[in-house]
Amino acid sequence: MSKENEILDKLKRIIDPDLGKDIVTLGFIQDMKISDDGDVSFTCELTTPACPVKEVFKKQCEEATMELDWVKTVEVNLSAQEKKPQDDKPNGLSQVQAIIAVGSCKGGVGKSTVATNLAFTLQKQGAKIGIFDADIFGPSLPTMVDAPFEGLFQDQGTGMISPVDHPTGMKLMSFAYANPSKGPAIMRGPMVTNAIKQLLTGTAWGELDYLIIDMPPGTGDIQLTLSQIIPITASVMVTTPQKISFIDVEKGIQMFDKMNVPVVAVVENMSYFKPDDHDTKYYIFGKGAKRKIVEQFGIEEAFEIPIDPAITQCGDSGFPIVTQENDEHPIVEVYNAIGESIVRSVSRIIHGESTVPTVEFVAGQGIHYVFQDSDKFVNPAVLRRGCRCAHCINEFTGVKVLKDDSVPDDLIPTSITVMGNYAVNIQWSDGHDSIIPYKQFDSV
Ligand code: ADP
Repeated sequence: MSKENEILDKLKRIIDPDLGKDIVTLGFIQDMKISDDGDVSFTCELTTPACPVKEVFKKQCEEATMELDWVKTVEVNLSAQEKKPQDDKPNGLSQVQAIIAVGSCKGGVGKSTVATNLAFTLQKQGAKIGIFDADIFGPSLPTMVDAPFEGLFQDQGTGMISPVDHPTGMKLMSFAYANPSKGPAIMRGPMVTNAIKQLLTGTAWGELDYLIIDMPPGTGDIQLTLSQIIPITASVMVTTPQKISFIDVEKGIQMFDKMNVPVVAVVENMSYFKPDDHDTKYYIFGKGAKRKIVEQFGIEEAFEIPIDPAITQCGDSGFPIVTQENDEHPIVEVYNAIGESIVRSVSRIIHGESTVPTVEFVAGQGIHYVFQDSDKFVNPAVLRRGCRCAHCINEFTGVKVLKDDSVPDDLIPTSITVMGNYAVNIQWSDGHDSIIPYKQFDSV
């Protein structure tokens, strides 16, 4: 075996946890050089510069290579895959790798605060970032992110507008820059989507790993149309416990689902309050929303952010809290976890293989569920009786409202559609509509 193959053989045991394959098969190892004296160097090319496990990969590569007796030194360089031109993306977005929409069902829940803090978190993790403030009715980016602004400039040749440059290199665009002297725009449906399209695709974003879109609040036509004009890769839903009427969250998830955009994380903002001088967390608006999100929608990535006056102060002064505190700060820790989880999910969406179960109705036998080691038929009525929607379970007490005997034994699904990577939406012959997380099939 050649020396290069000996090394590759050792490196094969290092698995990318998100893509589920070893780093040699994935083609990450490149440019290997081996000197006669046993000095080895190679590059480990990751899918994204913000890869949360890049340092772990580096250490594992060094340790695995050093196991060979003849290796004296090893140098592992980390790099990220060269950007492929995104031909399917409209003009200004052509070099943007992934678009992440941050949405909420209602205004005032902290959507823009989460979007900006998330952007700076991903930037700290090594990614090139842009923020597009699509909230035409209440643009807040210039307040939340302090950046020198002397007007927007349009390239005479290409007609493209240059985004506002944050000193860190982040690219920013908002309706507040386009229309600085006037108040919130008064427009209706199609005009709004046209205006958003023009500003978003007419901005020369350049090369970005992630463009964060601070969506207009709500789950109506504007949001739906937006998804038809922008190829959104993934979405993050922001909600608050007092507004966590589950009908709302459900609406948000269904909206992104109609848009064919997987919801990769739910952020419950203003979740609790913890005074500085002791460790008790006060769940002023009630606890347990996070667990309900996981149980009802099958979205594992649910995060709680506390109410903290520092978040408002930082947001109002243009310096998001993650840029002001160090990594040990509890709020920065949550944002780091959100950032890592999003990087992983987006990487799986872009580079991974689909690992979605198949769910179909077979007359006379039931609902056929096939996933990994599971292959079973489930009785439709049993599944329907386990529905966890706000009509079937009291969202505040968690007590089941649905009477089992109100569901006929001969109930059947009239349609089954896949929702992202986490659930199916089933319409039943009794007129009810359920989101059933895949996990629920394992437990019936
Ligand atoms: P939205 O984009 O949903 O309308 P914003 O992000 O503009 O909401 O937030 C509304 C207000 O709430 C802002 O003043 C913001 O600083 C404040 N805020 C957001 N999240 C928190 C939090 N976790 N703790 C304290 N204040 C917050």
